[in-house]
Amino acid sequence: MNTNKVLIVGAGPCGLLAAVELSRRGVPVTVVDAGEEPAGGSRAILLWPHALESFDRLGLRAEADKRGVPVEALGCHLAPGTVLRLPADPHHAPLVLPQEDTCDLLEAELRRLGGTVERGLRVTRLATSAESVRATARRADGTEVTLEAGWLIGADGHRSTVRAELGIVFSGTPLPVTFLIAEGRLAGDYDTRAVGYHLSRSGVLLVAPLPGGRARIAGAVPEDTAVTPETVRRLLDERGPGGLDLTETTFAASFTSGERVANTFRAGRCFLVGDAAHVHAPTGGQGLNLGLEDVRNLVWKLTGVIEGRFAPSILQSYDIERRAAAEQTVAATGRLTRAVMMGPAALLVRNSALSLAHRTGLLARLLLPTLAGWRIRYPDVLGLAGPQTLRGLPAPGTRSPAWPLDPDQEDRFQLISMGPADDMMIRRGRALAAQAPGLVVHRHRVTKGSGFVLLRPDGYVAAAGPETDFTRLARELRKLFG
Ligand SMILES: Cc1cc2nc3c(=O)[nH]c(=O)nc-3n(C[C@H](O)[C@H](O)[C@H](O)COP(=O)(O)OP(=O)(O)OC[C@H]3O[C@@H](n4cnc5c(N)ncnc54)[C@H](O)[C@@H]3O)c2cc1C
Repeated sequence: MNTNKVLIVGAGPCGLLAAVELSRRGVPVTVVDAGEEPAGGSRAILLWPHALESFDRLGLRAEADKRGVPVEALGCHLAPGTVLRLPADPHHAPLVLPQEDTCDLLEAELRRLGGTVERGLRVTRLATSAESVRATARRADGTEVTLEAGWLIGADGHRSTVRAELGIVFSGTPLPVTFLIAEGRLAGDYDTRAVGYHLSRSGVLLVAPLPGGRARIAGAVPEDTAVTPETVRRLLDERGPGGLDLTETTFAASFTSGERVANTFRAGRCFLVGDAAHVHAPTGGQGLNLGLEDVRNLVWKLTGVIEGRFAPSILQSYDIERRAAAEQTVAATGRLTRAVMMGPAALLVRNSALSLAHRTGLLARLLLPTLAGWRIRYPDVLGLAGPQTLRGLPAPGTRSPAWPLDPDQEDRFQLISMGPADDMMIRRGRALAAQAPGLVVHRHRVTKGSGFVLLRPDGYVAAAGPETDFTRLARELRKLFG
């Protein structure tokens, strides 16, 4: 048995991204999925910038752009004709890409890398030890297969067998809301470059463009609402901008969700990613993005441990950081859902507050970065953040579009020293990178004052501070690299 091998259970978008990311780093993977065929359907349609970064790195962005619909703005429609339009720059704009295309692109990339998905294999039991993981999987004809690996990633969705077998509790509550979702052709005038939230007196309605001239319509409805084209037309009339008609329905369903986060995302050699680890309200299209970011957080750490570059203790940070991200997202989507679903009595107050926040720019400053994932904050589990930061530098545990990663230095910590062109910081930065070749790369920004920013391989700020904090940073990094 190859103890470096990673068994990935579930070939939804999160399992597929994990398979691609590990394969391209040379880590052997086995991917199994219970389904006989890839799951179809558009499901998660919004890819926000951090997920798109992954597509960029994998060289899949051009094809994603070709298949998707660019979104230029979010629109909050307070009443027919009263629209608060929030234009989104490239750091904040999502791409509409149906989930079946996301999966198709990732699976094609996995095949190109020589990998494959073994379908029709449902994992039913797990046995773990300090050295390895053994899974029992069953085929449709009842025959059983034993799969062994050094590590396991449970990407098997919200009803995760992996989570249950590991005895991990999925804490939370069901959301007392039923959502109706329909897709098809809309006749009439609507903004095909914006995701529109229609906040009418009779409820909220999302209208979003889909590729091929189609649109998605979704909203909260009473529990026993019939899922028919007539219902969708009624919702469009009651909550929409007026003059829209659904002329062809390609999909319609109702669903409920929950607000749940697994009590831990890691048990020994097993990790949970995606819906297996968290579910929340669909408002703002965050679910898939949260899962894809789980994968991004895990992959550089797991690869580093497998290759012996990082001390195994780094893996515990996966659980703590991503559980924090999930809890922040559950809270944010919960707040957003309550805000868009306010009853008639509170509408006037909410709409006045929204209009004011729009006029002052506050709405764009708060809503877009939240949805685009820029407001997620990690606790300092790696222990690299210093006692103080400098004004103008990003806070440890955050990500900032002003501090992008150099995409050519994948999987490395990126140290950016700052100071005059002949500053000591250049030499100290170079010396630190030379001590940890292949782990830290260094570049210098010429500035008046001296300081540094250390970016992690996933773009989060590991540390930022003044020159005086540099010796401490070098010492803490040595511990991390074992
Ligand atoms: C109708 C609908 C609309 C949605 N709309 C949105 C949206 O607009 N925005 C958004 O962000 N999210 C949306 N979602 C949620 C989104 O689809 C999920 O967040 C996303 O699919 C999670 O991906 P995943 O890879 O974690 O899990 P999944 O996509 O659920 O994939 C899990 C995979 O694991 C396999 N599997 C399960 N059990 C086993 C087992 N025991 N052994 C082997 N394989 C197993 C399954 O066959 C499946 O292929 C929507 C979901 C639905 C159903």
